[in-house]
Amino acid sequence: MTDHTFQAMVVRETEPKTFTRSIEERAVKDLPAGDVLVRVHYSSLNYKDALSATGNKGVTRNYPHTPGIDAAGIVAASSNSEFAPGDPVIVTSFDLGMNTSGGFGQYIRVPADWVVPLPHGLSLVESMILGTAGLTTAMSLEKIIPVISLSQGPILVTGATGGVGALSCAMLSRLGYQVVAVSGKPDDGFLTGLGVTEVIPRQAFTENNHPPMLKARWAGVVDTVGGDILATAIKSTMENGVVTCCGLVAAPDFALTVFPFILRGITLVGIDSQHYPIEQRRNLWQYIADDWKPELPDHFTQKIGLTDLNTYIDKILKGEIKGRTLVDLTP
Ligand code: NDP
Repeated sequence: MTDHTFQAMVVRETEPKTFTRSIEERAVKDLPAGDVLVRVHYSSLNYKDALSATGNKGVTRNYPHTPGIDAAGIVAASSNSEFAPGDPVIVTSFDLGMNTSGGFGQYIRVPADWVVPLPHGLSLVESMILGTAGLTTAMSLEKIIPVISLSQGPILVTGATGGVGALSCAMLSRLGYQVVAVSGKPDDGFLTGLGVTEVIPRQAFTENNHPPMLKARWAGVVDTVGGDILATAIKSTMENGVVTCCGLVAAPDFALTVFPFILRGITLVGIDSQHYPIEQRRNLWQYIADDWKPELPDHFTQKIGLTDLNTYIDKILKGEIKGRTLVDLTP
């Protein structure tokens, strides 16, 4: 296995702040040390991968680097008794694709405590259609479901056509919640096809949002964008509502008073899928494979190969992708 080579995207810093991306042949022996070597069959494209692939040092400190925070495949070798060659597994986040060679290559080598056995009820393809976006969605549901009943009111989802947003729409409506979406894209049936009952255009959502409190409209919120949209969502959440916050594509900062918290008892919950502990992660993946598994139309997923990644990295940075992008690394 040590002399084995494989195809991978490699991002290089050719001069300070100048980055190139190419598909290259890499050697298994050059992968970092780890317990489990995985032959990656599928990965997926997340916003964070695009940041890593374009030289964002907050995500990836050192280059050359192979991005890809998601990978699903078959164990090729293992020094850990929990995993054996031939086992189907999922690896998402922790340091994968950040400063550890990631899923945009046909092999990864990682610590055993990053590895989730593929749960019953999910195929490798399905696990990567979901990927980190699916895990992040499930972590948000974990915070909302115990507190917000189906009859309490709609759940608002922002960045609704993106990976986390679209899966949130699909999973919440599968569970019977009424879902209202905020989106920057014209409504062409993509979101209503996922069960969304109302789509609010992004610009309209933040119009006239200056008062410290707005009319209460949502029982809960899954926010994936941050900034002014998150502030508006919090100001318009009903009494004792739960707002989850995972992303920053709009902005990392926002202006807010304490009034929504002290007058309506709103809970703002941060979601960090990167460090989510492995035992809870394995349990949550089983929920995702069972009761929470969304029904997704074929056009929800774009299937691409390694050579298409360049184009799709640019698209995701411009917010142009709807649903999820599956990366096929099978031979
Ligand atoms: P995507 O790029 O797939 O989706 C983001 C969506 O946000 C876009 O499709 C678009 O949807 C909307 N959007 C894009 N630009 C803007 C803008 N300027 N203002 C407002 N909305 C915008 O990303 P992901 O779903 O993969 O990730 C979403 C965010 O969540 C990212 O910031 C990512 O880093 C973060 N994240 C965090 C995790 C965590 O554990 N904390 C885990 C996973 C993701 P539309 O056009 O419909 O509005």
